[in-house]
Amino acid sequence: ATSYVGFDSITQQIEHKLLKRGFQFNVIVVGQTGLGKSTLINTVFASHLIDSKGRLAADEPVRQTTEIQAVSHVIVENGVKLRLNIVDTPGYGDQVNNENCWDPIVKYIKDQHSAYLRKELTAMRDRYILDTRIHCCLYFISPTGHSLRAIDVIVMKKLSEVVNVVPVIAKADSLTLEERVAFKEKIRAELVYNNIRLYPFDTDETDEEEIQLNESIRSVIPFAVVGSERSVIIDGKSVLGRKNRWGVVNVEDENHCEFMHLRNFLTRTHLQDLIETTAQIHYEAFRSKQLLALKE
Ligand code: GDP
Ligand code: MG
Repeated sequence: ATSYVGFDSITQQIEHKLLKRGFQFNVIVVGQTGLGKSTLINTVFASHLIDSKGRLAADEPVRQTTEIQAVSHVIVENGVKLRLNIVDTPGYGDQVNNENCWDPIVKYIKDQHSAYLRKELTAMRDRYILDTRIHCCLYFISPTGHSLRAIDVIVMKKLSEVVNVVPVIAKADSLTLEERVAFKEKIRAELVYNNIRLYPFDTDETDEEEIQLNESIRSVIPFAVVGSERSVIIDGKSVLGRKNRWGVVNVEDENHCEFMHLRNFLTRTHLQDLIETTAQIHYEAFRSKQLLALKE
């Protein structure tokens, strides 16, 4: 016992510091108007974060999302503080001419990298840098059941160069289970064909356990999701759900849709990895390019 120094308490010291500081997680939602972006975000993070009619709070006037808009929330669970930034984007691809409609979104993401880099270069002044870098981009695919639209391919390609893109099939309740399986296969094949590399990435450092985890995640992506902010009664219990032509969809039932998979992925299994990957891959690529340009 005399040789016990006590440094094993370092894990508690780290935990204490991290808990005091809390975690910052920034998500952007991208896709056509009406695909259920605001609804899904509200469903994932339980409280009414963004009203699906576009209101930021009950006392603010009704408004459509016409510009890129970040809303911050603090969620505390068991003493762990999560600062959540949800960035809502105006639906695009609604116009006749959709050329370069993704530019403002890509610019927004790069601007956050740029702001972080500026603060990092003057880091002596700010001990703690507020992180607005986008850790995850939920990309909403229309549930056509056929294939990706040309614009989806272009936009996902552009986005995947700067951010972790996670595609979801929106409003999956409008497809039968068989249609979903076929649509997923089709989408995956198209992503491969168009050489779009999406999160999660395997790197040289990825260990066996992570490779397994990444494989299991890839086998579900794109998540076929259903969102709802309303409760319905199923078997006498109140659950988040939707009534449709065929019956009632229980959003939280894994046999009905992959909402729970997505929520577990975002909050339980990949939150930290999405944050790390953003810093180590996307931000690092931006940073080295900028610093190189400075030298020239
Ligand atoms: P946004 O424009 O992408 O933010 O879409 P909203 O979240 O405002 O939703 C648009 C409409 O679609 C609303 O009437 C929602 O109730 C409805 N909606 C949202 N999610 C789903 C879903 O998963 N399935 C179905 N059938 N309707 C949905
Ligand atoms: Mg919206």
